Amino acid sequence: MSLTKQEALELFRSDDLIGIGMAADAVRRKLHPEGVVTYIIDRNINYTNLCTEYCTFCAFYAPIKGPGRAKGYVLEFDEIYAKIQETVEFGGTGVLMQGGLHPDLKLDWYEAMLRGIKQRFPQVHLHCFSASEIIHVAELNGLSIRDTIARLRDAGLDSIPGGGAEILDDEVRHKVARLKCLTEDWLNVHRTAHSLGMRTTATMMFGVGETLEHRVNHFQHVYDLQQETGGFTAFIPWTFQPKNTALGGRGWDEATSVEYLKTLAIARIFLSNIENVQSSWVTQGLKVCQMGLRFGGNDVGSVMLEENVVRAAGTTNCTTEEELRHIIRDAGFRPAQRDTLYTKFFLN
Ligand code: SF4
Repeated sequence: MSLTKQEALELFRSDDLIGIGMAADAVRRKLHPEGVVTYIIDRNINYTNLCTEYCTFCAFYAPIKGPGRAKGYVLEFDEIYAKIQETVEFGGTGVLMQGGLHPDLKLDWYEAMLRGIKQRFPQVHLHCFSASEIIHVAELNGLSIRDTIARLRDAGLDSIPGGGAEILDDEVRHKVARLKCLTEDWLNVHRTAHSLGMRTTATMMFGVGETLEHRVNHFQHVYDLQQETGGFTAFIPWTFQPKNTALGGRGWDEATSVEYLKTLAIARIFLSNIENVQSSWVTQGLKVCQMGLRFGGNDVGSVMLEENVVRAAGTTNCTTEEELRHIIRDAGFRPAQRDTLYTKFFLN
């Protein structure tokens, strides 16, 4: 059973960090009694950074007009194949591909890329394109969301990441990403993907000036959709990284570790219908990520051979498979490599 919104707000307002962590740990233990904490080996490939949206929290994009356009790029397919080849050689099982909302890349470009990858690497799981990218491609091609996802799936897309959710409350979205898709649009992409039999993840980027009520509204939207479809494999919260962003330039401080752990734990308790919750080393560093395993997290995400979006915002935490296995073991769990859908585990 989930929390009510009111109960979640009371937890946010409580100072009992350890008590909240223990309650989240109890939910984690119930869902994962075997004491295994997972990770994946994959790579984030950002096929383009050119973007029409100008989100105030983003340090990654190159604008499509003005002098900033010079730092824009679109990867050649051969560059993408070479990155995937390297990932496979490193023991990677999947690729997370996301990009800016490029004004000219049509659906056939995406289809050709996915087909080219699957021809060369049929075993690699393609976890690609946030809801905002899918909406953008659908609009650019005059297609429905359903037809767009179905065509991407037929070309090789296996699942969809939760990027672009930020905070699922339009009051916040209007302030920090006024051109980006709205809450209902994000939910609709995921609902449609689930109805086509495709699994997706749900994310939350917090610490952008939202209220606690906004965070709880986000949890409720994700919870409700999961009740409806059961299509989310995992919930992945992380904190806004302010460096080099317009929002950060307004003097924004990053959410503290206590705020991160408390939000992670309340998410774990609230989203009792989602099996996996990820603790983030990319934004929090290894030590807080490790503590997150006692605040509800049962997964530490990816070893990640490449990551550009958080790095652009000045956060340069890095790790190895051995380091991740070490922090997992040291927190009292057995480490296991998993696949993108959390269905295959390799205990070694
Ligand atoms: S967050 Fe995504 S949609 Fe927003 S500006 Fe950055 S690349 Fe574009």
